[in-house]
Amino acid sequence: MKTIYKIIILYLISIGIILFVYQNIDAFSEKSKKFQQNILLKQAQVHFEEQINTRHWNASHGGVYVKPHDNIKPNPYLKDNILKVDDNLTLIKINPAWMTRQLSELLSSENFKFRITSLKPINPINKSDSFESKALKHFENTENREFYELIDNKFRYIGALVTKQECLKCHAAQGYKLGDIRGGISITFNSDEYNDIIKSVESQALSAKIIFTILSIILTLLIHKQLKQTYDLSLEVKNRTREINNTKNILQHVLDADRSFLFVLDDTQIIMANKTMLNFFGYKTIGEFSKNHEHISDMFESDDSKLYLQHFINGEHWIHYLQREQNYKNLKVKLKNNNIEKVFKPSAKEISIDNKILHIVIFDDITNELKQIEKLKKEAARDTLTKLFNRGKFQEILIQEMALANSTMQPLSVIFLDIDFFKNVNDKYGHDVGDKVLKSLSRILKENMRLGDSVSRWGGEEFIVLLQSTPLNQAHKIAEKLRLKVSEYKFDEVENLTISLGVTQYINQESDKTLLKRVDEALYEAKNAGRNKVIMK
Ligand code: GH3
Ligand code: MG
Ligand code: MG
Repeated sequence: MKTIYKIIILYLISIGIILFVYQNIDAFSEKSKKFQQNILLKQAQVHFEEQINTRHWNASHGGVYVKPHDNIKPNPYLKDNILKVDDNLTLIKINPAWMTRQLSELLSSENFKFRITSLKPINPINKSDSFESKALKHFENTENREFYELIDNKFRYIGALVTKQECLKCHAAQGYKLGDIRGGISITFNSDEYNDIIKSVESQALSAKIIFTILSIILTLLIHKQLKQTYDLSLEVKNRTREINNTKNILQHVLDADRSFLFVLDDTQIIMANKTMLNFFGYKTIGEFSKNHEHISDMFESDDSKLYLQHFINGEHWIHYLQREQNYKNLKVKLKNNNIEKVFKPSAKEISIDNKILHIVIFDDITNELKQIEKLKKEAARDTLTKLFNRGKFQEILIQEMALANSTMQPLSVIFLDIDFFKNVNDKYGHDVGDKVLKSLSRILKENMRLGDSVSRWGGEEFIVLLQSTPLNQAHKIAEKLRLKVSEYKFDEVENLTISLGVTQYINQESDKTLLKRVDEALYEAKNAGRNKVIMK
């Protein structure tokens, strides 16, 4: 979810919680007020009941008679309110109304008052005030029989006076009927204590609201900050991840652009490879590659040269062997797919990531270089005019053949030959013709070589032939044959071309110098003997 939505939800939840808590605080303070009010109500009800019971007691006796004194006068609104018992004793009648009036005067104080009241009082002093009128009218219009209100610092209560059977004894004449509400007993308390408690409840509720609101705001802001930080962090992570992915992409492209095979081994298992390598094997992903090949070394082609890596080299895994030997040996790898064979120069670097040993391996494609080197080597070994081996290559071959002859004890012979009076050809026909003649002679010599023999241009118009497994007498025959072939050959531009030849056999363990000196002497002798000759030495 987007952070902005989270923040909006956070604030909505916070406001919801605050409102919910406000509601509960209000409900609680309302309950407390009600509870306090109920205490007042209960007090009023108890008092009312007391009065009712007293009145009931009085009415049940049809009024009571008491001795008059200063404070008790007869009820002026009651007929037969004096009873003359004898000359000395006169009693006055106290009916319930007069009794209530008397009690109210007796018991009322600053903080507590009660009195009997009516909308149509017989005694005008009992006339209802506005609150009492309201209450009495309420009784007339409803089934309710009590009414109370809090007015300023007063709790006012009125209980209805319901006409009962015993009331009718006296009041039937006044038109009272059973169940009539003729008035009520009005009770008034000082509610200062109640008001104080209510004020305290209200201020506590307000404090609770303020404290809760402050705490909620602090908590909300903290969560907001946390969300913002998380958002910033996730944004940072996102940016960094994008940067890393871009770098990774670039890196992957760089790796893929390389014509070398680049791959990573986790121990001996391939876990990454560049496109060049995957394309070569015809796969799109490393997953496809791994599915088809357990190890890349399964595809290493074998070769006679020990420098080509195999899965195991003397019991050692190739990657470990490569790590150890790469700086000392010119190691190679040969891979083949779809008849395309490539040769690589392998190198590896060991790295440790998260305590894991990884090998970064590079197979540098050197197929073309090797071909080029091979071509250059061939060219360097050949004489440009005649395409025969040159003197350098001859020396190389000679050393090899001498070594072979030494080990196999097979004979090895050499023929050294030189064109007779070649200067004359140049002088007579020009240098170009001389070149052509050199080429033609080279072809004649090559055509008459056997498998394993080699012919090289020693220099100028001098040639040298190496004859494998050939003793001197047989070499003499070959030399003779060559001499004849040349002397009988019809050259296009020149006539009567002859060659002189020296022949000798390699003596085991002698040096190339002594061998060449001997065959040169043989040729020299052939020249001296009149040319177009073969001399053995
Ligand atoms: P001989 O060997 O019988 O004593 O006589 P020659 O005339 O062959 O003697 P020499 O060895 O003195 O001369 C060799 C000549 O071969 C000299 C040189 O001009 C010529 N020559 C050497 N290399 C080439 C070449 O590549 N092309 C041509 N056209 N001539 C060459
Ligand atoms: Mg010469
Ligand atoms: Mg010559």
